[in-house]
Amino acid sequence: MPKLTILGAAAALPEADRENTYMVVEGEHAAFLIDCAGNPIQRLRRAGISLSRLDGLIATHHHPDHIYGVPLLLLGLWLSQRSKPFHVFAPPRTLRALVTIMDAFEWREWPGFFPVQFHEVSLAVGAPVLDWPDCRVTASPGVHMLPVISLRIESRATGNVLAYCCDTAPSPSLLTLTQDAQTLLHESAGEAPGHSSPAQAAALAAEGKVGRLVLVHYPERARNGERALAEARAVFRGPVELAKEGAVYEF
Ligand SMILES: [Zn+2]
Repeated sequence: MPKLTILGAAAALPEADRENTYMVVEGEHAAFLIDCAGNPIQRLRRAGISLSRLDGLIATHHHPDHIYGVPLLLLGLWLSQRSKPFHVFAPPRTLRALVTIMDAFEWREWPGFFPVQFHEVSLAVGAPVLDWPDCRVTASPGVHMLPVISLRIESRATGNVLAYCCDTAPSPSLLTLTQDAQTLLHESAGEAPGHSSPAQAAALAAEGKVGRLVLVHYPERARNGERALAEARAVFRGPVELAKEGAVYEF
């Protein structure tokens, strides 16, 4: 059964003991990151996920708090003697940003560097991202300051769905993505342009008839969570929780 592990849960401004939001999905055959902050090698090791099992990265958009760990990720995989290809899936502008960042580190000169294969994700409702033996992943665009995708991850083993709504204001395009998901992981940075409040995340959870709502990418003021949880529970009657770093969600 695939599982998603939260590697970071903070909003764009991290705290002393909370990293920017990113996560890893691991199945029987492979694992992939969703966004890449902090030092992902350290967090993957802490989560007990072997670097050799990592097949790729899905980058939702190119704000720094979502992709600044990529150079350290690729450096760490290179130092761990990786030879097999690494796959990167992202909207076109995000792929261009990642190449530009890596070019600043002159990565093409690193001896024996493994192949990195880039895959464009179109900004359309239900756009295919990847078909892995463990999961099928599709995307839909959100509403943010940059092109951004949210994800629907369907387990081949169980048929269960985990949806992740990344930085986004409420949008009708996200309803298909989240419909009947067992778990909806939703950013809750607050009601602001390009973001959602806990109540807005809960409204999508209710409309999509999801099983459980997990708030992530939440700011410091929500740290103890009571206000955010109360706001969400007033709108969505199912279970609601705040994502904790290291938390594991099987689906
Ligand atoms: Zn953003």
